[in-house]
Amino acid sequence: MAYRAQVMDHLVRPRNVGELPDPSGTGESGDAACGDIARFDVAIRENTVESLRYQVYGCAACIAAGSALTELVDGRHLLEAAKVSRIDLQDALGGPLPAGKEHALTLVLDALHKAFEDHWNHEADVLLAGYGSEVHDG
Ligand SMILES: [Zn+2]
Repeated sequence: MAYRAQVMDHLVRPRNVGELPDPSGTGESGDAACGDIARFDVAIRENTVESLRYQVYGCAACIAAGSALTELVDGRHLLEAAKVSRIDLQDALGGPLPAGKEHALTLVLDALHKAFEDHWNHEADVLLAGYGSEVHDG
């Protein structure tokens, strides 16, 4: 197994690990094949990723990919953050992961996208609730 320096760096000093006390969205994904689970908490204010935290129970590549992904999307507009691709993440990790470890990219992106969806669902609920009360008031 040969991980690149960028992967090792994230592995030794993972960024943004943990949970948020009051996330606006939470997403989890799991890869049954190797038993990895990733979870992202996001706090989004005015369509910007204000802060985020992640947790990974799994292999080294998944832990490093989660850490790198938080750096890629932290502070960015939601639309930009949602566009971060497997290639962007791979580049942030210095290039392709070792054979058999590509699942790490999918795992953490999947969890992040679910967290964004969760946030959007909450936003829609708030929007619909507001709309509903307006109709009733009118
Ligand atoms: Zn893994």
